[in-house]
Amino acid sequence: MKEQSNGLKFSTLAIHAGQPPAKPYNAVMTPVYQTSTYVQASPGTFVEGYDYGRTANPTRTALEENLAALEGAKFGLCFASGCAAMSAVLHSLNAGDHVVLCDDVYGGTFRLIDKVFLRMGITHTTVDMCDLAAVEKTFNKQTKLVWIETPTNPMLKVIDIGRIAAMARAHNCRVLVDNTFASPYLQTPLTLGADIVCHSVTKYIGGHSDVIGGALMLNDSEWAERLYFLQNAVGAVPAPWDCFLTLRSTKTLQVRMERHCDNARKVVDFLKSSSKVEKIYYPGLASHPNHDIARAQMRDFGGMLSARIKGGLSAAKSFLERLKIFSLAESLGGVESLAEHPAIMTHASIPAEARKKLGIDDGLIRLSVGIEDAEDLVADLAQALG
Ligand SMILES: *Cc1c(COP(=O)(O)O)cnc(C)c1O
Repeated sequence: MKEQSNGLKFSTLAIHAGQPPAKPYNAVMTPVYQTSTYVQASPGTFVEGYDYGRTANPTRTALEENLAALEGAKFGLCFASGCAAMSAVLHSLNAGDHVVLCDDVYGGTFRLIDKVFLRMGITHTTVDMCDLAAVEKTFNKQTKLVWIETPTNPMLKVIDIGRIAAMARAHNCRVLVDNTFASPYLQTPLTLGADIVCHSVTKYIGGHSDVIGGALMLNDSEWAERLYFLQNAVGAVPAPWDCFLTLRSTKTLQVRMERHCDNARKVVDFLKSSSKVEKIYYPGLASHPNHDIARAQMRDFGGMLSARIKGGLSAAKSFLERLKIFSLAESLGGVESLAEHPAIMTHASIPAEARKKLGIDDGLIRLSVGIEDAEDLVADLAQALG
């Protein structure tokens, strides 16, 4: 994976990008500019470039510059949630446009595209993006955007961003990558040919399960200008305090991700040895069908994995009920370990037939491996399986 183009390495950018000492007191931390408006010198003359808090806020600007640097992007835009960020991208399309999206995208992404934007004339086709020949068949003259999420949720498929981006370019389409599962530390899609990256900041970037947020990062100045217009016009902007908390989070993103990855590896090693586990879905396994793509486009394999417990629903349920350190909860990417049952919890809105086709059956559980002590995590899994 390529290093950041401006030379500075990830953790240095994470701690410093977008955050020069703040006027007037030279504060090391960017303050929370908890203000809705700014005094003008003369009608229409903005002293420091800010006029109204929906349009822009200095704490948000610092976060936008910080996140852009982490993705190696020229432009960054922050939103009140991942769904708000994704909506801005969809709002930049026109009625009649067509979107190709991968078949196990985040449930809220599919709901937004299928239940909100379809009614406004934006159509879509879902496809298994590990099957490049199938992807090729989904393009039509109206296709404007290819929507990739990798690794996917909860089956942890890994999609080849570079190959799909090349196909999209041949069809004059843009490519979005939802980089939430990997985080910018593990994967920078813009360097692989994607046009825009979106994040649910709520997950790894926030990392502490205390903020809902979203972000877009891109290099195309014309599209960025349109998205800044939409950010202000639609108004789903993040609060200054949430931007401050997120800036605090990005400083530790690399050390957290390294630990998430190490702990997940140890959890997988344990699960491999358990007679109660039928199958493990984790891109770091050499037997994973997309392992080579993951090695090529990711720095490491992440903190997410799924597994099928022997004994179906009742075995999966009692395993989840017995966990003590892993919390039974939706969401992912926080410092604390979470476990969940996709068929009943995160993926309940997907029709049973489609779930079955994807492999989301009643024995499947998903783990977001946190940064606690790995031995304690393994012991917890062992007692819950035992
Ligand atoms: C959570 C999530 C979203 C939605 O983000 P919110 O911050 O909850 O609005 C989008 N994509 C992925 C992959 C997610 O996990």
